[in-house]
Amino acid sequence: MLRTAINQSARNFGTNVTCSIKCNRLEGKVAIVTASTEGIGFSIAKRLAQEGAKVMISSRKESNVKKAVEELQTEGLQVAGTVCHVGKTEDRKNLFEKTKANFGGLDILISNAAVNPVVGSVLDSTEEVWDKIFDINVKSTFLLMKESLTLLKCSKSPSIIIVSSIAAYVPLNLLGIYSVSKTALLGLTKATAEELAFDGIRVNCIAPGIIKTKFSEPLYKSEDNYNVAISRINMKRLGTSDEIGSVAAFLASSDASYITGETIVVSGGMQSRL
Ligand code: NAP
Repeated sequence: MLRTAINQSARNFGTNVTCSIKCNRLEGKVAIVTASTEGIGFSIAKRLAQEGAKVMISSRKESNVKKAVEELQTEGLQVAGTVCHVGKTEDRKNLFEKTKANFGGLDILISNAAVNPVVGSVLDSTEEVWDKIFDINVKSTFLLMKESLTLLKCSKSPSIIIVSSIAAYVPLNLLGIYSVSKTALLGLTKATAEELAFDGIRVNCIAPGIIKTKFSEPLYKSEDNYNVAISRINMKRLGTSDEIGSVAAFLASSDASYITGETIVVSGGMQSRL
């Protein structure tokens, strides 16, 4: 009942976000998007390719990579794929080598992979969970950035985008250590943006709110959790992956040529900062 009322009121904010992509802002660019076989990563990869980029798709499972690549190629988009578990050194090495071999270089790195193996508060978590979350969410992002520099330094308009979360600003009780890891990514964005500005490499970050994907199901699947989530969103609806894809395309494009070290919150108005 409440869900119906909320959905009706959300219509007033215009939830029809589908539109045809008419600009070619990323023509001639090459992009890597990690964890891009579904959800937010898939939408980012699709949007970059729709705007003219050649995109390397990747995730842990070969069958997922194959499916995502086929779907995008069917739409006439220029994509290739490879398996890459971001926590594995060999996989990351292979990701960069395959991108260079397939597309000749790299202009845009999007670090999107993250895990949250447990649902619960910070102090209820174990050291093992802390290590797993920080290894994938933070350390792998740092390593991908470092390892991408040889290729990015050859680009005329290089850019890195890190996917953080609204939880970086307002820790979510159900996502304890995950929230802390996402706050660390805001720091990583600031620190590296300063260091890489000299090389002309822009580093920015996106902090999505609650976006309807498999990952965020615990936050909206039950009626109770859905109502709690919606009560914190001014626009009274969950976000879509495509609404993150469009922001990533903007940040990667020359429309954002004077933006570095920033985080764009895409949350339908969830509280994030003053
Ligand atoms: P999702 O729909 O569950 O998709 C997860 C993707 O990540 C899949 O393609 C999966 O494919 C891949 N993946 C998982 N572990 C990986 C690893 N170790 N290495 C490489 N790929 C891996 O998740 P999502 O909601 O799109 O989340 C994407 C990003 O957005 C994450 O950084 C998340 O923290 C952030 N975010 C999401 C929300 C939200 O509400 N959904 C909100 C804020 C931030 P395989 O299984 O084949 O590996």
